[in-house]
Amino acid sequence: MERIDIELIRNFESLIANSSKSIVVIPHTNPDGDAMGSVLGLWRVLKNAGFKVKVVSPTKYPEFYHWMDGHDEVIIFSHHPKQSARALEESNLIICMDFNQLSRLGEMRPLIENYPGKKILVDHHPYPGNFTDLIISDITFSSTAELIFSVLQSTSLAQFIDRDAATSFFTGIMTDTGSFDFNVSNPNTFEVVAQLTRMGIDQLDIHSKVYDNYSADRMRLMGFCLSNRMTVYPEYHAASMYITLEDQKAFNFKTGDNEGFVNMPLSIKGVVFSVLFTEKEKYVKVSFRSKGEFAVNEVSEKYFNGGGHRNAAGGEFYASLPEALDQFEKLLPEFEDRIKKSIK
Ligand code: 5GP
Ligand code: MN
Repeated sequence: MERIDIELIRNFESLIANSSKSIVVIPHTNPDGDAMGSVLGLWRVLKNAGFKVKVVSPTKYPEFYHWMDGHDEVIIFSHHPKQSARALEESNLIICMDFNQLSRLGEMRPLIENYPGKKILVDHHPYPGNFTDLIISDITFSSTAELIFSVLQSTSLAQFIDRDAATSFFTGIMTDTGSFDFNVSNPNTFEVVAQLTRMGIDQLDIHSKVYDNYSADRMRLMGFCLSNRMTVYPEYHAASMYITLEDQKAFNFKTGDNEGFVNMPLSIKGVVFSVLFTEKEKYVKVSFRSKGEFAVNEVSEKYFNGGGHRNAAGGEFYASLPEALDQFEKLLPEFEDRIKKSIK
């Protein structure tokens, strides 16, 4: 049996083939490697196939993804709202990637909600919302990048996947699996990586461009947070970390500088549940990670206005940082039994 329903693939192909104007591809707000890898890879394939195609991102994304093919052409909605609106007006098909709810578009939401043309969603999060004409959504894929690559491979667009597109797709798979550390329970992921490798990607170079591209300030902030901002709760097999606005100022914080911090406490023996609080001007950004069965998206949905995957989720908390930390400590007993199921 085909892993992706053939009917969905045919619909995907025909919506694209019938788009008489240009196509706009859209990631979620604060896009990560998978969102940008999926979007820029698809952008390249559609462009190679002769379509007029643009990428509009709700917000900017970390500098360690700026080397990617197509970065120079991405329109950032938060910086260029008029140009973004024009790109949408000139199109009649949008493809939303790596998110499952309109709320993940932040301030760009109304533009997409009221969009008069056709819409496609390609995503791998649970509970996809019903806001597009076509939904290609499957949680058994490691990443949206793996999913879109598999979809494209079953269409006539497959011939247009070049090395640049393959490089973007690999970036998405690599970052969403933490370099093949999690989300890789399906062997298909490695089959896709084998195919991308045959297309000539340079895996070591991609890894180095993403992970060996941090500033000294970011390394120092990480050391500071590990020393001064981390609490371990051994009885709950949990750990928390936080970064205040003041800390961000002290270490010249740039978008993406906290990426990966939330994973670090999981390498402490016995810890299977980790949370990172990053203070923002108007709210607190929350990131969760877990190992094994314990579903952090449930915690995020119930207490932090968020969602995500079983082992990687996030949300937003509209109160102060101390209140967020307090909320976290109070919820630990509720989840104690479920956390303990993750201990092997
Ligand atoms: P991160 O912790 O890397 O920001 O996000 C991990 C995962 O959590 C993302 O891939 C996404 O699925 C989910 N996520 C992060 N932030 C939010 C949010 O504010 N709302 C929702 N619904 N999901 C989020
Ligand atoms: Mn993803």
